[in-house]
Amino acid sequence: TIENVKIARPEAGSGSYHTREEPTAALLRLGAWQFFSDACTGKLPDPSGKPKAVIISALRLDPFVVRGDVQLQGRVSEFARGLELLHSSAGDQPVYLIIPSIRSDLAGQVRGLADKYSWLTLVEVKLKYPFGNLQLAAQNLGFDRLHGKDMVWGLGVEGVMAVDGALTSSRSCASRTISIGGPGAKNPAHAIIPVGYPLTMIAESCSAGTPVRMVNGGALAGRSVPADQQGLDSECLGITLIPENTEREVLAFAHLGFGKHAFTNTFFSVLRGRFRERYTTAVRGEHRPCVACSSCERACPAGIMPFLVHRYVDKQRIEEAERFGLWKCIECGLCSHVCLAKRNMSSAFCEARENIEAASSPGVNQS
Ligand code: SF4
Ligand code: SF4
Repeated sequence: TIENVKIARPEAGSGSYHTREEPTAALLRLGAWQFFSDACTGKLPDPSGKPKAVIISALRLDPFVVRGDVQLQGRVSEFARGLELLHSSAGDQPVYLIIPSIRSDLAGQVRGLADKYSWLTLVEVKLKYPFGNLQLAAQNLGFDRLHGKDMVWGLGVEGVMAVDGALTSSRSCASRTISIGGPGAKNPAHAIIPVGYPLTMIAESCSAGTPVRMVNGGALAGRSVPADQQGLDSECLGITLIPENTEREVLAFAHLGFGKHAFTNTFFSVLRGRFRERYTTAVRGEHRPCVACSSCERACPAGIMPFLVHRYVDKQRIEEAERFGLWKCIECGLCSHVCLAKRNMSSAFCEARENIEAASSPGVNQS
């Protein structure tokens, strides 16, 4: 069983990195490279490229994924050593560390690192989703995700620990620290699980016994685990178990909606005030046309108009979609979450960008 697995505290490493092997080669060999992303594009960075900077986020605020502070507790010295190693591996480029603007012992210890290292810049943000997102941070720090101009290494706390373990103790990273949670989980837990661990075993040992849908990631930005995926993937941050809805709501649009919450005052539930609503896979009614309520625009942290970009993507008018910010989307999922027409804009943008990249990649016949 994987219930109640505690997060292990690895032994401290032996010091700084002193071998002839290139740091990136060691990170690749020991599996630590899986924790890196290009903070401009969200993709795995090219190990042979030189980054312009390193952005580290100590925040993970998507509901149900493992939080950065859980991984930092009692390990600030390892974290500091990981920061030093990252700074030198990146060719002494600046390092930005995103932390929440809160007062706590742990936050105080992390703030102390900025006094110690002149190359480290603290970026304090509100404790609110999706602040802490690496792509959002890269955009706000002025790095360019387009045209492949800037490459910025992006990592979370677990990645910094993995760099420390790999470069000071040659420790390999064949496991991930993940959360297993959501309304369908019997005993929500943090666990260290080997990559490739069978997902069916996770669902069997952690679900409450009713049918659940497995989501790779949190409730807002996670994606349903495809039916053909057998094992835990190397980028998993958490598994969210959501009770599978088995009842169809017939003519849901005609219900008055005293029992339905919405971001806008769409339903009569606005008269009830806040109430508990069970979170399931039900979409509660049919997909509908956009009603131009602009809720998605108000929710979007990237400052774009998701309904407009979605309209252009839908009509295959990609140039207009790009002009109105298709590449600025950080795939946080907030627009889809608040949309009363149930439009899955985040996934559509992701798919459109993948299609553009596939069409422009070398080897694709564009005639
Ligand atoms: S378009 Fe949607 S998914 Fe993309 S950043 Fe805006 S709210 Fe998030
Ligand atoms: S939230 Fe949905 S319905 Fe409202 S403007 Fe955006 S896409 Fe349209």
